[in-house]
Amino acid sequence: MRTIYFDNNATTKVADEVLEEIKPYFCELYGNPSSMHTFGGQVGIKIREAREKAAALLGCDPGEIIFTSGGTESDNAAINGVLTATPDKRKVITSRVEHPAVLSVCKQLEDRGYTVIELKVDKQGRLNLDELEKQIDDDTALVTIMYANNETGVIFPVEQIAELVKSKGSVFHTDAVQAVGKIPINLSKSSIDLLSISGHKLHAPKGVGILYVRKGTRLAPFMLGGHQEKGRRAGTENVPSIIGLGKACELAMQNFGEENKRVKNLRDKLEKAILKKCPDCMVNGDTENRLPNTSNISFEFIEGEAILLMLDKFGICASSGSACTSGSLEPSHVLRAMGVPFTAAHGSIRFSLSRYNTEEEVDYTIEKMPEIVNRLRKMSPYVTG
Ligand code: PLP
Repeated sequence: MRTIYFDNNATTKVADEVLEEIKPYFCELYGNPSSMHTFGGQVGIKIREAREKAAALLGCDPGEIIFTSGGTESDNAAINGVLTATPDKRKVITSRVEHPAVLSVCKQLEDRGYTVIELKVDKQGRLNLDELEKQIDDDTALVTIMYANNETGVIFPVEQIAELVKSKGSVFHTDAVQAVGKIPINLSKSSIDLLSISGHKLHAPKGVGILYVRKGTRLAPFMLGGHQEKGRRAGTENVPSIIGLGKACELAMQNFGEENKRVKNLRDKLEKAILKKCPDCMVNGDTENRLPNTSNISFEFIEGEAILLMLDKFGICASSGSACTSGSLEPSHVLRAMGVPFTAAHGSIRFSLSRYNTEEEVDYTIEKMPEIVNRLRKMSPYVTG
């Protein structure tokens, strides 16, 4: 059976061009980029090129790029690195809808005696900037707010937030794992101090990422050891994946506008048709400020998991907004924070597209969805008559 992959916010296919680029770095050009000999040195040159390509996509200086093992490490390194470098400040501000890579670190900080403020969001998943402004004080070491939400695709006004944080003399980190490659980011015209990226959301391999650190930002190194990444992140580089991430950044730049417009049109077609053909469903999140590839739809009176299983039977991959915790289905913390009603939060499905999706795949899914929803509703204990 063929696979229709609408789960690109979970991970993406490695682009063919990326795979081609990285193949030689396993068995032929396997030297250590830090070695003095030419064999290793030529690998070092490729890492430098990858750094330049990533910097070009982000509009920053190559020296501001640190390669990491992915989004989780970048988030951990940013938060802990800033706090270690500013030991006199004890407050961190974040939002309730961050990825666990940020929220779990913040929970641990609370246990260590830090004050952590988790900002609320409204029904559309939007932040209240007045509330943020009120919370930033002299004790605030860091504000960490995501660029775009992984579940709903809602984009936060991070440039405006960065300006506000800067004017108050604090440091701003953003988890841009879901935003990079999907919406334009230009760090040369920005006040963002730190920004996290993950390779596998961008058609590069899994287990590689970037932490952008604006020149002059005080950051203690997270991994200690060798002198790699100018001593800011020790450990022999994940050479093939870094080179692959550089290529993926280059590809993202090449067809940026065209590609994202096409993906948005496909997403819109899918979403509109589902809303039209399936009664009692609604889109979660601010549809005005949203990633072009993401649609989070709640289907009343049915479980998201049941929809996923039936989609899976047709070879369609998506994901749901609830997680199975100790035998019961818990609605996601993001939908809960938005105040999505219980029955709707339980029946939420996220479709996330990429440049590799086709109109034919969208049409096939549009054909199957009403059938799936009708069948499940007939079995639902919530629906009578
Ligand atoms: N931040 C966000 C918003 C994410 O969506 C993810 C992954 O789903 C991560 C961080 C973690 O990235 P990684 O899987 O590269 O550790």
